[in-house]
Amino acid sequence: MINVTKTYLPPISTYQQYVEKIWKSNQLTNHGPLVQELEKKLKDFLGVKYCFFVSNGTIAIQIALKVLGIKKDVITTPFSYCATTHSLIWENCKPVFADISNKDFCIDPQKIEAQITEDTEAILATHVYGNPCDVDKIAEIAQKHNLKVIYDAAHCFGVNVNNTSIFNYGDISTCSFHSTKVFHTTEGGAIFTNDDDLAFLIDRYRSFGHIGDNYLTIGINGKNSEFHAAMGLCVLPDVPKIIEARKAIFELYDSLLDWTKLVKPVVSLPTETNYAYYPIFLNSEETLFRVREKLQAHEIFPRRYFYPSLSSLKFVAEESNCPISDDYAVRALALPLFYDLAHDDVRLIASIINNNL
Ligand SMILES: *Cc1c(COP(=O)(O)O)cnc(C)c1O
Repeated sequence: MINVTKTYLPPISTYQQYVEKIWKSNQLTNHGPLVQELEKKLKDFLGVKYCFFVSNGTIAIQIALKVLGIKKDVITTPFSYCATTHSLIWENCKPVFADISNKDFCIDPQKIEAQITEDTEAILATHVYGNPCDVDKIAEIAQKHNLKVIYDAAHCFGVNVNNTSIFNYGDISTCSFHSTKVFHTTEGGAIFTNDDDLAFLIDRYRSFGHIGDNYLTIGINGKNSEFHAAMGLCVLPDVPKIIEARKAIFELYDSLLDWTKLVKPVVSLPTETNYAYYPIFLNSEETLFRVREKLQAHEIFPRRYFYPSLSSLKFVAEESNCPISDDYAVRALALPLFYDLAHDDVRLIASIINNNL
């Protein structure tokens, strides 16, 4: 059976060495030595000023909204994982959708501008499949209208744009370290910022609002454990190797698939990618169903990703006009892509797809 993704596991002996350290320190959580070591190594690896390890990529977005004091309208993308929109609604903000570009599938800056009202406080955009949004244009719009920018960079571990980490863009960027992502800590996530004041608040908010014995504010429990940090410390040194292997698979798909009948995202900015996903867009939902059925008959399970368009969720109150997202979400399919996916399996997947378009 071949799934869309398969979690990378380090050698169990490496993990055991860290578990022994945990037994020695007898500290399992509350910003222990392994969490501190992981945060330091992540900052060095990524080239970022602040990195806060938290329990997952969803709470990372929620904390970002809290520390920025966002309470009203947030312009966001309909083409992302549900966590992007759910975080907004959970924090009592109002998601206002701006449609995506049909080239990079990220939020379209022109459509952002069209949605700005006096209630708009922020932009929450996703770097879709690890491909960067138009970060320069979004920064310009945010400055002009005095808006905060949060990037859901859940897909972006190791991605560089304009020769710097993509996490350096926006007031705050968040990442997910879930087991399905390129770098993982089992469950986990991180919050990135370059702003000293925001960094101070993030650190407080993720830990009940504690400041010494007392409380600065209402916080949440967004901490992560020594065991999760241990997994991260085992996986991190292997990230270059993981990305290399993904790149070879990615390029093999590129060379084999029939591009006269398929569409894939186009990356516009100078980007060093992490090959996080291999999405294709079929010419219709019927074709998608046909291709998926043929793949499933071979025990191959791609994933509809992203589907559905978040603007169509029943708990989103406002009507939205996002025809591009609506159209592409029903025919998007992420193909299997993981560290040790066999190249012969990629050839089989590509031929099944090409024969059923
Ligand atoms: C994975 C993902 C999240 C959620 O991260 P968790 O760590 O699972 O909470 C949020 N946004 C996007 C775009 C994701 O892919």
